[in-house]
Amino acid sequence: MDHFNSYQLKHFAGIVADTMGLSLPEGYAKGIRWVSDILKNRAGGTCDRAVLYHADAVGMYMWQQYTDLFAPVYRNTSLSVPFISTVSSFTPVAHASMYTGLDPKGHGIHSYTRPKLECSTLFDVLIAQGKKVAILAQDDSTFLHIFAGRDLDYFEEPNAICIQEKALELIESDKYDVISIHTFDYDNAAHFYGPESKEGINAIALEADGFERIANLIRSKKDGKRTLLTYSPDHGQHPVGSIGDEPEAEGVDTSRFKGMHGTKKIEDMNIVHFFGTI
Ligand SMILES: [Zn+2]
Repeated sequence: MDHFNSYQLKHFAGIVADTMGLSLPEGYAKGIRWVSDILKNRAGGTCDRAVLYHADAVGMYMWQQYTDLFAPVYRNTSLSVPFISTVSSFTPVAHASMYTGLDPKGHGIHSYTRPKLECSTLFDVLIAQGKKVAILAQDDSTFLHIFAGRDLDYFEEPNAICIQEKALELIESDKYDVISIHTFDYDNAAHFYGPESKEGINAIALEADGFERIANLIRSKKDGKRTLLTYSPDHGQHPVGSIGDEPEAEGVDTSRFKGMHGTKKIEDMNIVHFFGTI
């Protein structure tokens, strides 16, 4: 029988808020107290800054089967926590829950649709506290749609390599308290070549290396500040054909896909997040 992870993604916003000494609006999901307590202890206090890295579609079984791919993530974090993705297991649903603390019925995104969120998000909480925030995402990322219209800076780049370079530039500039990064080279490769294809595995390695480069630069510029660093995927992927009917993704031509997500299958649902402090 399948064993699904228990912690829901909606706790992500609360973990970030708690670790930074902030509060989400009333009625939003709380963080996970022991996680934020460990992070604050290791950091020596609440974190002033955060870099939140979202490698799209990296499922837990990729971590189970190809653990050494994650060595660069382990080197720069101190805690891994299993999470279960949202229903449905599509990026806009998952990231809306992660950045609000709400279930899909609370934020209103249930499938692959990308309306601008009108509810309060983690970004709004951060901005209200005077934090300077940047979203750095691949072209046409869900982040650029559902979190549009906020008083923050948006940066768009074509691939995970360009994102790495831009991330280093933004950190070097010292202008931002919080940077959310969304790359989906693995998601693209897994859709077109299969979740365990060499193209997919290469993309996970590339994104993990980028994460380490970012961590190294934060460390070298620490200067008395405490930074929360997370590696936080949204959902996994299953091989197409392994489960019968594939889910509909609005506006997406799935006919050439060898990997897909959006179902309640364990490959789509089980993910692992990594947390650390610098
Ligand atoms: Zn996808």
